[in-house]
Amino acid sequence: MKGICILGATGSIGVSTLDVVARHPDQYRVVALTANGNIDALYDQCLTHHPEYAVVATESKAQQFKDRIAASPVSDIKVLAGAEALQQVATLDNVDSVMAAIVGAAGLLPTLAAAKAGKTVLLANKEALVMSGQIFMRAVSESGATLLPIDSEHNAIFQCMPAGYTTGHVAKQARRILLTASGGPFRKTPIADLDTVTPDQAVAHPKWDMGRKISVDSATMMNKGLELIEACLLFNMDPDDIQVVIHPQSIIHSMVDYVDGSVLAQMGNPDMRTPIAYAMAWPERFDSGVAPLNIFEVGHMDFEKPDLQRFPCLRLAYEAIKAGGIMPTVLNAANEIAVEAFLNEQVRFTDIAKIIEASMARFTADRADSLELILQADLKAREVAQTVIGQLAS
Ligand code: NAD
Ligand code: MG
Repeated sequence: MKGICILGATGSIGVSTLDVVARHPDQYRVVALTANGNIDALYDQCLTHHPEYAVVATESKAQQFKDRIAASPVSDIKVLAGAEALQQVATLDNVDSVMAAIVGAAGLLPTLAAAKAGKTVLLANKEALVMSGQIFMRAVSESGATLLPIDSEHNAIFQCMPAGYTTGHVAKQARRILLTASGGPFRKTPIADLDTVTPDQAVAHPKWDMGRKISVDSATMMNKGLELIEACLLFNMDPDDIQVVIHPQSIIHSMVDYVDGSVLAQMGNPDMRTPIAYAMAWPERFDSGVAPLNIFEVGHMDFEKPDLQRFPCLRLAYEAIKAGGIMPTVLNAANEIAVEAFLNEQVRFTDIAKIIEASMARFTADRADSLELILQADLKAREVAQTVIGQLAS
């Protein structure tokens, strides 16, 4: 029986994880659930899964939540609040696996704490890895933590790696990674129309049902940019050896090209419960609840090269990883600020890339070899991005 802590339990990945957990009560026990604002959803999850701990990230909502739990049939749940508590529950002795499913930089410290504590880290929170890079990978190797990717593409790549492969290492006979992308909702939209797309249009993803931030990232293809950096780190690959492939059907989740000419792909319906179940059952497999793939219904599959004119965010991600140092941290932070501003209707869709590019231009690729330097760069990049937004408006 393994104990699991789910950071970001109320989000899209968190909910899918609990769905998989509920299918395997003989193998997984929920030790801790955490949420930011949606305490109604967290309350319902507490009733169903009866964790030992529930963490509310926003202190302001914690008291009300404590009162509700105290009056409930699950009154023995310990309710904690704040960012420190996230690290506390991610490192509890009876937690074996930590699902890192908080969105954005807010997930970095608890995910890093889990890695340092030698846990099995199920990594959905790609921003945490992108912003901390080598620091994170070093924490994993020093503590002996097991790092398993949840992002569908990286999970697919991991599945296509040789037997016994562990993340962070070079798979010697693999010469290239083919990182697939759906192309998002605007793959065919005339470029001139992208100026006026609304947040609701941008979050309406054709293939995946996800949180709002990652949905916008998919529409700009910054999601693929972050995933490119994520793949460089997880699989110790050079960015030039990773080819992004637009595959609108989202049936192949990525491929590994080997020196003998073999290209291995992992396929399946686009449902995050497959990579989640794979990582939870690893090195075995168990049921995820996902319907079997109907290959006849799929019929055919298409592949295209991405257009960097249409998707400048992808170009910026290549530039950031090649520059190295703090650049990926800056890219990620500026993107988080720009996406939030877009979702709040402060800036246009096409401004997102402009804000990131202008922010990156104000930094040099300085060293990023301590957590302190990374957090400093993250904070500074957020300030710079806000300034750029202010200048756009004026
Ligand atoms: P979401 O917005 O649906 O959920 C985010 C979760 O994080 C929620 O539980 C929320 O309460 C919590 N949270 C948000 N801000 C927080 C803060 N400041 N402090 C503490 N908790 C906070 O997002 P999602 O779609 O589930 O994505 C989660 C992560 O997984 C992201 O990093 C995303 O890139 C990655 N991911 C998601 C998918 C997907 O299909 N949804 C696929 C691949 C990777
Ligand atoms: Mg993905």
